[in-house]
Amino acid sequence: MGTCKVIGLVSQKGGVGKTTSAVNLGAGLVREGKKVLILEADPQGSLAISMGIKNPDALDVSLATVMSGIMEDKPVDALQAILTHQEGMDFLPANIELSAMEISLITVMSREFVLKNCVDPLRKDYDYILIDCMPSLGMLTVNALVASDSVIIPSQPSYLSAKGLDLLLKSVARVRRSINPGLAIDGILFTMVDRRTNNANEIIASMRKSVGQQLRVFETEIPRSVRAAEAALAGKSIFAFDKTCKVAEAYGQLTKEVLGLEARTRNQSRADRVR
Ligand code: ATP
Ligand code: MG
Repeated sequence: MGTCKVIGLVSQKGGVGKTTSAVNLGAGLVREGKKVLILEADPQGSLAISMGIKNPDALDVSLATVMSGIMEDKPVDALQAILTHQEGMDFLPANIELSAMEISLITVMSREFVLKNCVDPLRKDYDYILIDCMPSLGMLTVNALVASDSVIIPSQPSYLSAKGLDLLLKSVARVRRSINPGLAIDGILFTMVDRRTNNANEIIASMRKSVGQQLRVFETEIPRSVRAAEAALAGKSIFAFDKTCKVAEAYGQLTKEVLGLEARTRNQSRADRVR
């Protein structure tokens, strides 16, 4: 297996489609023949639920178990916590125990590296590891930024506040400066887009223009549709739930965009080597 790319889905704003995008990008990559792990760095357990786990809090082993093992120098094999979804993606679920873990992180040595120490040994088994982050810029999200090669920032166009984005970019910059200089921003992903509402087209065009000066904005927009929420409730990806709906089409297109990024960086580094 070649190199693995670790992508964090990050935003301190809640309910912007991080988990939905992790699940459906993950499923899309599997459909393109990639080996994928989705890791849930969020005590809410919504990813676990979207993957069909009815009660994440009842799981015996979860990300908290693995991270605690690393912190206490009593390593737990992450494979014990990894489950496989029927559509082929692996996932490492989290639950409420992760919130206690985040608090104890504050006092350990190398507290920013705990998640990286969990993720790095798994790289050899996957083409992509997607980290579904919680809506905060706290220690767990910092851990995710340290463990990631790049980030995708999902956002509803109308919610993308300059201040919120600025804080997020500052966190990325801080992590780059101190720990993970290679951390890239793959781009902003517009989610829950409803082009039928008043002014939607103008808002999106102006967001694309203003944000686009600073950051890449994915060409793909994820439309708003109740099918997205229904698929999550059914524990399925949008492809398995309703592959003809427009959300499935959009996540299929996003998958291709993400795969395209990969090809580009590979070519670029090849060009760098030649030079
Ligand atoms: P949190 O910050 O709480 O982790 P999140 O950023 O992970 O939230 P999601 O859980 O993915 O966001 O989405 C929030 C809600 O919106 C969920 O109920 C989800 O099913 C719904 N949703 C996600 N994407 C869409 C969409 N394209 N259209 C309609 N509803 C959507
Ligand atoms: Mg979420």
